[in-house]
Amino acid sequence: MFRLFKGARRRHTLAREIPPEWIDYVTEYLPIFDLLPPEEARTFLHHLKILVWEKHWVGAMDFELTERVQVIIAAQGARMARGLPENVFDRLSEFVVYGVDFVRPDDDLPGPMLGEAHPFGTVVLSWPSVEESLRFPCVALNPVLHELAHILDMSSGYFDGTPVLHRGADYEPWATVFTKYFEAIRDRPEESFLDHYGATDASEFFAVAVESFFDLPDLMAYEAPDLFELLRRYFRIDPIVIPCTCESHDEDEEVREMGRPFLLPPDPLDGNFI
Ligand SMILES: [Zn+2]
Repeated sequence: MFRLFKGARRRHTLAREIPPEWIDYVTEYLPIFDLLPPEEARTFLHHLKILVWEKHWVGAMDFELTERVQVIIAAQGARMARGLPENVFDRLSEFVVYGVDFVRPDDDLPGPMLGEAHPFGTVVLSWPSVEESLRFPCVALNPVLHELAHILDMSSGYFDGTPVLHRGADYEPWATVFTKYFEAIRDRPEESFLDHYGATDASEFFAVAVESFFDLPDLMAYEAPDLFELLRRYFRIDPIVIPCTCESHDEDEEVREMGRPFLLPPDPLDGNFI
């Protein structure tokens, strides 16, 4: 009975027309929307509708949660999920959005929180951090991608860095390749192209790898082609580089030759992801 109701609700969601201003909200921070192949644009909009209309949205501490904010956040999820089934975020029930970087009183982590994901399906985000991350995609510090990666990770029942892979997919290369890069960042974080927060545990490693896959795909394809290929097979898309306005980093000529300079932010984000 529940399944029937859910199916009817999903059909109703997907049949609704999106307000025309949504496309403006999407392209405000996601200029690659216009570059998506038609099939990916279609599935992108399906995921966008599901995330905006079927999830519960809360503005925390009097934050005014506008439809623009909802669409901009949901667009990151749609960007991630455009090659995945429509039910992929069914474990996600709620977005709670703060107007400031938030601090958990019961936490001993230093600094403010940029986002967190709970096993029961709530994702908590700081809107200023979301906006900052979208202004500077080449930093690959994207709280929405990060927390939604945790939700995908949870599809297997645990935060363990391994989501449910597609039917017929082999878990062995996933385990081998992810372990190789996880051990490398844990042993020599200064040499890793990934955010050092990925050394925390396997779950955080998966989340920061997903951030880099979408925000720095050319760098990942160059530095970790096997990891890039596994994520490409999992997400079933070719990521597209988003233009960034950061100052370029001149020291890494090899990476610059790939056609997309390795970029450093003028003002790196500082905070914690859970
Ligand atoms: Zn995390």
